[in-house]
Amino acid sequence: MKQATRCIVCGGTRLTGMPTWVAPFLRTYVWHTSTDIDCRFLTCEDCTVCFYDLRPDADEMERLYSGYRGENYVAERARHEPEYRRVNQGLGSDREVDVRRENLEQILRNVRGTRPLSRVLDYGGDAGQFIPRSLEESRRFVYEVSGVAPLEGVIAIADPASAAPYDFIMCCHLLEHVAEPFALTRELARLAAPEGLIYFEVPWEPHFFRRVLRRIGRKGWTPPPLHEHITFFTRQALRTLITRAGMSVLACSIHRIDLDGTDLRVISMFAAPGGADPGSPGKSRFVALAAEFGRWFFMEARKHVHSLLRSPGGPEGSIQ
Ligand SMILES: [Zn+2]
Repeated sequence: MKQATRCIVCGGTRLTGMPTWVAPFLRTYVWHTSTDIDCRFLTCEDCTVCFYDLRPDADEMERLYSGYRGENYVAERARHEPEYRRVNQGLGSDREVDVRRENLEQILRNVRGTRPLSRVLDYGGDAGQFIPRSLEESRRFVYEVSGVAPLEGVIAIADPASAAPYDFIMCCHLLEHVAEPFALTRELARLAAPEGLIYFEVPWEPHFFRRVLRRIGRKGWTPPPLHEHITFFTRQALRTLITRAGMSVLACSIHRIDLDGTDLRVISMFAAPGGADPGSPGKSRFVALAAEFGRWFFMEARKHVHSLLRSPGGPEGSIQ
């Protein structure tokens, strides 16, 4: 394992930390130990990203993701987290695929303009099932480490550079899992064609705001143990990552994706290689963060009310 001493998004050093530990499932599945592993949950005061200082190395990532959600993975995880079998049945279901793909289809329509998007790569895209239907005539590639077989018409590649450049690259629900999101984002910028389009989607779990509220109230929130999501983005943090990697942000939105009661909230961001960020000038960081906080606070309140009405067990958790 490696330890981050600088911000993994902006490279800054103004980090504040809270102690936490590695979740028992990961501790045994990845590190093969029954001894507690301590780590720190860090917040960057500059770009607002939250992350764990403990960053898995390449071998540890391989152990975690090579048979991801396979039989052995599910059995081991359910041993530590009995609820996981039920949760896993909903993950990757036909309904989830349909809802997520349709969400992207709608927002892509507004951003692509006259771009042909004839070569498409879903980086970390499982079997390629999340690629929008409107791109079925395109040459579709998928880069995936779990070893799953691609859908008919989708070409699995072992090296993403082998079929570059791409007119459209998707990177969905991946950045929050990887040890070095900046290196990955820079790689995607290199793989894109000069007029290409890159789509990022990450869960919206802005722990930055929770930590700020805790500081004001001096109670109420402690960081979750380290699990599969090792980085938590705000919109501000994702924008910083993308522009630092040499891309410009074309569009950004936050969506609530309704998966039969599961609270999946995502940041959707389109980027283009090169150029300045047209979204930043004239909009101060404070205004951007205040707007994001307002949205988060409203959604948290609504979720809390819904969960109180539905069950006495309290608000539902997020899925990692
Ligand atoms: Zn930072």
